[in-house]
Amino acid sequence: MGNISHHLSSARSVDVNGRAYRWPVRPTVVVCFDGCDPAYIEAARAAKVIPAIESMIHGGFSALALAAMPTFTNPNNVSIVCGAPPAVHGVSGNYYLDRETGREIMMLDAAPLRAPTILAAFSSSGANVAAITAKDKLRKALGNGLQGIAFSAEKADICTEAEHGIGNVPMLVGRGPPDPYSADLSLFVLDAGIRLLESRRPDLLYLSLSDYVQHKHPPGMPEADAFMQAVDMRLATLIRLGATVGIVADHGMNDMAQPGGTPNVLYLGDRLDEKFGAGATRVICPITDPFVRHHGALGGFVRVHLMRDGLDANIVRQFVRKIPGVQHALAKEEACQRFDLPVEREADIVVVAEKGVAIGARAVDHDLAQLAGERLRSHGGLAEQAVPFLLSHPLNADYASRPTAGLRNFDIFDYALNGIL
Ligand SMILES: [Zn+2]
Repeated sequence: MGNISHHLSSARSVDVNGRAYRWPVRPTVVVCFDGCDPAYIEAARAAKVIPAIESMIHGGFSALALAAMPTFTNPNNVSIVCGAPPAVHGVSGNYYLDRETGREIMMLDAAPLRAPTILAAFSSSGANVAAITAKDKLRKALGNGLQGIAFSAEKADICTEAEHGIGNVPMLVGRGPPDPYSADLSLFVLDAGIRLLESRRPDLLYLSLSDYVQHKHPPGMPEADAFMQAVDMRLATLIRLGATVGIVADHGMNDMAQPGGTPNVLYLGDRLDEKFGAGATRVICPITDPFVRHHGALGGFVRVHLMRDGLDANIVRQFVRKIPGVQHALAKEEACQRFDLPVEREADIVVVAEKGVAIGARAVDHDLAQLAGERLRSHGGLAEQAVPFLLSHPLNADYASRPTAGLRNFDIFDYALNGIL
């Protein structure tokens, strides 16, 4: 943590991963609105059910930003709290293949983050910091080095002062942990954030939601608009309590089914086995997640490892890039440069799907029954990279003059702390 320092002066700030963040002048809340494709906001605005977001758009700041690639939950949540892309912090997917053992390993379990988080840096400089996530796997990573409060809605009933910085969360929120497969998982995170803001007034609060609703319901559907409205009411409360509120998403969301409802899947593992022989390559789907019921472990980004000696990466890459549904098949170095990925965990070939296409390994590796007959909606590729970027307060002159073209979702703490009036 050598690159963390703080300066006790009139312009007190904390340096993290090459950026200086101003000490919060009022409680600052950053919400990662999981899977909130800009289309959900547009549809909910048209239905007039999100007045708080509407007032942020008119009286604060609103733009589109680009998420980190791949457009999955873990790499983007970690990028947001580090203020830096995966090349800096090392989390470039949910899973990676350990070439030594041949095992798939969850990146968040493999090792502590190699970069400090903004949350940890502020907490070690004396700020009151809290992080609340929907899922517990993210809580462990985002709470890394954080001397403060960090808990998940999923495991809200087992919080202790010693491990989570807080006990008896159900008492605080007024209800027990929600069903992990429900819209309430996200609403619980927001309600807990509101209670913390009321009772402890943290300087920094990070709230990370779940994309359960977006995986099931397209923008503008009654269930989607009802969820947008329920989130918006809670955002209004956070703003009314005097917080600066910043909102980004970790990724968008797109329909990946054919007109009749069949998932639109390219089973790349099967295609590669047919062409180069069984076991010559191995396809890793880094969206794989304990919460597979959302998406059947299918998304718009996979990694191909060459497993057979002498197999030419360029020949395999040329084969993959010509398959319909493939937008990019990139060599390792090219992918790392283009998407700011850490090279030591990257595969030989990185494959990005076209919009509306999901890429899988072999058909036998995916259980589509998990979709329970619903259309596949998922993310992972470039088609899910544009996300909302919203602030409750207007920008200062410096930040207002900056172009929004290169804006990233992991700039949100910079804008919320340094960029507003
Ligand atoms: Zn997500």
